[in-house]
Amino acid sequence: MLKDLGYFSVKNDWTLIYNGTEPEFFVVRETMSEKNGKTLLVTGGAGFIGSNFINFIHKRYPNYKILLLDALTYAGNLDNIPTSLKSNGHFQFHHGNITHPDIVNKLVSESDIVVHFAAESHVTRSIYDNAIFFETDVIGTQVVANAIVNNPVELFVHISSSEVYGTALTDPMDEEHPLNPMSPYAAAKAGADRLIYSYVKTYDLPAIIIRPFNNYGPCQHLEKAIPNFIVSALQDQPLTIHGNGESSRDWMFVEDTCEALDRVLHVERDRVIGQTINLGTGTDTSVVEIARRILKLMNKPESLLQFIEDRPGQVTRHISSVDKSHEYLDWQSKVGLDEGLKRTIEFYQNNPKWWERIMWMKELWAPKG
Ligand code: NAD
Repeated sequence: MLKDLGYFSVKNDWTLIYNGTEPEFFVVRETMSEKNGKTLLVTGGAGFIGSNFINFIHKRYPNYKILLLDALTYAGNLDNIPTSLKSNGHFQFHHGNITHPDIVNKLVSESDIVVHFAAESHVTRSIYDNAIFFETDVIGTQVVANAIVNNPVELFVHISSSEVYGTALTDPMDEEHPLNPMSPYAAAKAGADRLIYSYVKTYDLPAIIIRPFNNYGPCQHLEKAIPNFIVSALQDQPLTIHGNGESSRDWMFVEDTCEALDRVLHVERDRVIGQTINLGTGTDTSVVEIARRILKLMNKPESLLQFIEDRPGQVTRHISSVDKSHEYLDWQSKVGLDEGLKRTIEFYQNNPKWWERIMWMKELWAPKG
């Protein structure tokens, strides 16, 4: 029982309710009026998807207060947050690590909703140096989840990943697909994903688990395939493709993910809490086809394609079922691949300063042979 574990701290604006049929107490926060807006804690919001999400939510709900907690690892960049928002009373940045309970507890206690993006996120890095993946992605998630058990919020959105599934055993892959993580990154994300599931069952954590498929768009680190290809093409450098490039992914423009997360925040809570939902487009495209499309959209020759040795731990196919996201969120992706790629190319063409500072990380060191 939660109360016996001493997890509760009851504050003035909380109501303690005794459920007469079971020996458990439930703590319910009084609903904030929409007029006052919500306070959202966003972990990892200086990274790619998190910063797009913050900007999206701020534009659509300017009265929401956003607390950003980010350790600013190599993947975080506060320039991803517009100056107008940073200097706005509705935004606070907290520089800190999700594995540190003090700061996480404090910020969770000030929040109505927590959206948890913070993670080490790169498959290839996890192959060569994986301890930090388990520290951040699993232990960090445990710290955030414990903070919510101590300081209940309305909703906890856990950002998991399609990588937890491994290679597609079915076409499409629905939420019941077996979890066969194939890289340490995927294993860490699967650990965090199941940890949250267990907290829903054990502690009634008001969580929803979201499994996005491969996102792309503005502000994505050059270590990821699409920005890597675009920046190579901008510099007339080879686009290096691992293996034969035939492995395929369900590529989704990040704005579609933000739109879906907006739905997660605003659909009827009881319907989504405890659910696990994929976010994808329902189509897959091979890596080599993505590279060809980028070259075509940028008027560059296919002779820039260069095939190199394959990497271990890569899935060969990912394709999302879109049924559950449609049913529960009344959402489907809108941005087609060519439009999304065009908008992503424009970002890298127009913002060389954004990516020049991380050019040295474009090619990841890996042991040879
Ligand atoms: P990212 O690597 O661009 O950003 C991660 C952010 O987390 C960075 O700002 C970083 O500074 C921060 N961070 C890392 N360790 C931290 C720590 N210990 N404490 C606090 N902050 C920390 O990642 P992304 O691509 O934006 O992905 C965001 C989330 O979405 C991750 O959980 C990732 O697993 C998941 N996801 C991403 C994709 C994708 O295609 N990019 C697909 C599915 C799921």
